[in-house]
Amino acid sequence: MPIVAVDALDALIEHRGGQHRQSQRDMASWVAQAIEDEHHLICEAGTGVGKSFGYLVPAIVSQQRVVVATSTKTLQDQIAADLPDIVDVLRQRGHDVTWAVVKGRASYLCPAKVAERQPQLLHDTGDADDLDTIIDWWQNGGDGERDHAPVAVSNRAWSAVSVSGMECPGRRCSYADDCPAIGALNEAREASLVICNHHLYGSDINSDGAILDEHDAVIFDEAHRLEDALCSSVGITLTNGRLAGYARDVTGLLKSLGVPEADRKTHVGRLWGAINEVQTWLNQLDTGEVQLPLGGTPADAVRTLQSTVRTVDRLVQKATPDGPIVTGQRERTSNLAGHLQGDLGVLTDPVPGHVCWIEAGPVLRTSPVSVSETFSNNLAAKRPTILTSATLTVAGSFDAIARQFGYSAPVDDMSEPHSDPDDPDPLRYMTLSVDSPFDYPRQARLYLPNLEEPTADGWGNSVAELADELVEAAGGRALILCTSNAAVSRISARLEDGQHRILTQGKQPRNKLLDEFRHDESSVLVATMGFWEGVDIVGDACQLVLIDRVPFPRPDDPLWSARRAAATDAGLSSFATVDLPRAASLTAQGAGRLIRSMDDEGMIVLCDRRLKTKSYGPVIVSTLPEMPIITDQNEAMAYLEGL
Ligand code: SF4
Repeated sequence: MPIVAVDALDALIEHRGGQHRQSQRDMASWVAQAIEDEHHLICEAGTGVGKSFGYLVPAIVSQQRVVVATSTKTLQDQIAADLPDIVDVLRQRGHDVTWAVVKGRASYLCPAKVAERQPQLLHDTGDADDLDTIIDWWQNGGDGERDHAPVAVSNRAWSAVSVSGMECPGRRCSYADDCPAIGALNEAREASLVICNHHLYGSDINSDGAILDEHDAVIFDEAHRLEDALCSSVGITLTNGRLAGYARDVTGLLKSLGVPEADRKTHVGRLWGAINEVQTWLNQLDTGEVQLPLGGTPADAVRTLQSTVRTVDRLVQKATPDGPIVTGQRERTSNLAGHLQGDLGVLTDPVPGHVCWIEAGPVLRTSPVSVSETFSNNLAAKRPTILTSATLTVAGSFDAIARQFGYSAPVDDMSEPHSDPDDPDPLRYMTLSVDSPFDYPRQARLYLPNLEEPTADGWGNSVAELADELVEAAGGRALILCTSNAAVSRISARLEDGQHRILTQGKQPRNKLLDEFRHDESSVLVATMGFWEGVDIVGDACQLVLIDRVPFPRPDDPLWSARRAAATDAGLSSFATVDLPRAASLTAQGAGRLIRSMDDEGMIVLCDRRLKTKSYGPVIVSTLPEMPIITDQNEAMAYLEGL
């Protein structure tokens, strides 16, 4: 099959008038082999390899049922845009496939919510006219997918016509027959190639495969983000708003269900009383770790709320809804109640191996410390898994990513299928590194300036000053990636006095910022973590990528602290196995924003002296593509001026 897959890839590239790349052909061949022989494969494919074709073609040619999980909806949409062409070419060569894209519930319009048409809700969002347009579009044959809607609306407005996964009762819903979310799921169940996202795949694991059904292999693109997505799909999130939202929904519902006023008042009063107790506890908590199980008064408050929600939900269930709208409301509110009871239960009866913490808000979260057991037992032991991304190795080693997902040992021999009943270890994995086709020594420079250490007083101002000088030399065209909001403000403020338009994260929506950065070539975009990945600016608009410091996880972050403790307990160095891989991967992701095509040229600046003074410095630098290193500012300025 590898030869067939490579031939099919060649035909596709020829059809599209593209360039044949050996790295992409190697990837296609190894992915084909992994699916055929039922092996796990971890494949690092440098920027520009064209990895989506490198896995889609062998997935189709395999004639197996394959799920591809990406990290973002944008990537899902890109694949969906490419697939008709790919499928056409491969069909002509005898490889048939049915494919479907499926996203999370909130990506689709909810007909149950539309049926309610709560005018006040629509009015409150301030986008009432746009929502009317969207509802018209849906009622006149639109497919109900948010990204295909004729007008864009804010998240808040969209929530007036959509539901979250926690609210949606799924196929049990009375509106399921007309529901685009259920329609997409049904199509996906019939398809031999399914494009979903990491979160949805995480939900599928949690539901024992009830969402995506049996499949023969799974490919995770952007696999460096998979652990975070799987953790968040297992963990819980509790906020004051979530509790109050449930109380408001159920209050309205009890009235619609015709529950007598006296009963209503009693139950709603008890519910708000129980919610207030939990909210009081939540509001008193400082940010940081919360020890579970809860004890004393907080545990009593949580148990009281849990049992009150249960009692109110029984009342809801006993009442007889009048008409489909109230039936739909009851189904959704009951679903919310079920999730809420389950999540509250975690606080008094925690899941082993999970950690709980409070973020500003307050937002209470829990997460598994590791997904390795879930991944290896529920997934990798059952079917071949293929992990790919541009940044999976640390100093050339796949050990860290393999450990994250519970794989056992690398193998060199691909001749033994992992489902072999005699195979004692189904968690061994193959690795492949395919280089970027970009000519980094020609196209790029890495500048390591002589600044003080990030912990020194004045370092932040030095970075802002350096950014100012380099931005002038580059004529704008710069993406400044910061590790904190404070750095974003400081650097933006410094650059505002210059000649270039400064686009600052938080002042406009992300897509708008990126559009303006792309089209106004001399502009400068200053942003923090959300822009280190997934920003793809081809051409002269981005010739300078400046990173303020190596993004190590915060030492006081409860989840990362728990991961460090787990590594130490296992006899491993927590720095080498937890902090360094994350920092190296993110640094490489940030640096990867610079060169996005064969014609791009530019400079990466890492303003972190530790790269030159600490022993881990060369490890992080070696995670970047090889390119000439500059340490002299005049040389750096001259290079930028010459671009
Ligand atoms: S199944 Fe029902 S509640 Fe869920 S999205 Fe569809 S219509 Fe809405």
